[in-house]
Amino acid sequence: MSDTIFGKIISGDIPSEFIYEDEHCIAINDISPQAPVHVLVIPKRGIARLADAQPDDQVLLGHLLLAAGNVARQLGVDNAFRLVINNGEGAGQTVFHLHLHILAGGTLTEGRMAG
Ligand code: 5GP
Repeated sequence: MSDTIFGKIISGDIPSEFIYEDEHCIAINDISPQAPVHVLVIPKRGIARLADAQPDDQVLLGHLLLAAGNVARQLGVDNAFRLVINNGEGAGQTVFHLHLHILAGGTLTEGRMAG
């Protein structure tokens, strides 16, 4: 677990609705959505940044992609969604507990998404 807002959400210290949960990760709606569908897939193991992942995390990282696909299917957006991982402050990362953004429901363009 990490000492971040996501660590506290996963531990239940901060109540939050999980729209998906399995042994290794949860998914929650982003508090400040940047698209009509904006969901965060968060591993229960608290890796700060993708760049901090280790060879031991290989199975977990694959699991997160599969979970993201499952969540997209669950939400009915599996035909058009984008996955984003911000790595580091310079890339816009604000919560240092690895997470995948699922963005969907808007107009997907090459480098950005317009709601
Ligand atoms: P980052 O910028 O680190 O890639 O993404 C962090 C995301 O977490 C942001 O999109 C932000 O809106 C979201 N976020 C921050 N605090 C909370 C919270 O307490 N609950 C939820 N559901 N999302 C949060």
